[in-house]
Parts: sequence; C-alpha cells; structure tokens
Amino acid sequence: MKSIWAPWRMIYIEDNSRKGGCIFCDKLKEEDARSALVLAETDFSLVMLNKFPYNNGHLLLAPKRHGNQISLLPLEEYQDLCDALRSSVEIVGEVLKPAGMNVGMNLGRSAGAGVEDHLHWHVVPRWEGDTNFMPVVGEVRVISQHLLESYERLRPFFQGRFARKHG
Ligand SMILES: [Zn+2]
Repeated sequence: MKSIWAPWRMIYIEDNSRKGGCIFCDKLKEEDARSALVLAETDFSLVMLNKFPYNNGHLLLAPKRHGNQISLLPLEEYQDLCDALRSSVEIVGEVLKPAGMNVGMNLGRSAGAGVEDHLHWHVVPRWEGDTNFMPVVGEVRVISQHLLESYERLRPFFQGRFARKHG
C-alpha cells in the first residue's frame, strides 16, 4: 500500500508555495465561506475546518491579526479567540459526539507548527479506533467530499451560536 500521507503532503506543499501567503490571512479575503471551509467569523477570530485534517471535524481557530506571539495578542482579541475555542469544543461535542478531543497549539516549527507565522488552535475530535481515519478516506477526492459533509453538518450550529452572540 502506498503511503497515505504522500498525496496530502504534496498538495499542502504545492498550496503553500503557489499562494506564498498566509493561509489564515488569505481566508479572510475569500468571498465564499463554504469553499474556504470557514465555519464562523467573530469580531477578532476565524473558525474553519482544516483542509488537511487529522480526523473528521478537525478545526483550526486563528485570531484575525497576523502574528505568532501569543503574548502580543491584545487581551480583547485573545479572549475572543478563547470564547470561540470554548464554543467550538461545545459544538463539536454536540454535533459530532466524539469520545474525546485533542485541543492544542503548536508554537514554532520544532513543535510541529505547519503554519508557524500565524497563531492557531487545533481542535481534533477523537473516536475509539480512529487511527484508521486516513486509510479509510485516504484519497484526495474522498477527503474533499468528507470535508464538505462535515462543513454542512457543523455550519448551522456555528452560525446559530455566533449569530446569537452578536444579536
Ligand atoms: Zn496570517
């Protein structure tokens, strides 16, 4: 069997080199939330599905402000991000009903950050035996379909949550 990671990594590398920008800052410029996989925008933060997921429903949350120093994020923006994180964990828990979740932030390339210039949280839902996720949906086409299905399931809950908050 071919390596399940190869197609992903190639697209990821090509994506990055083609755009040459920051994936989070670029997301903010995209018109179509669905194709950008953006689930919600708050005053200062962005919630999206990871296009290169480790598991079904893998979210990325980033402040709208570009930067990689958590201590330089203004308190109001940091709190907005933390609120979005808490809401995201709740929504993923309610909608996807995982057995558990990994929530974390990789600071710096040595710590495994794929995008090291722009802070972001990972929320990765976990199920028993989910290490088979990538072999199961290992084809790029299948994963794209999978992502849009996850998007459609989650989007109404994010819209409801953040609309309430702002309304
Ligand atoms: Zn950025």
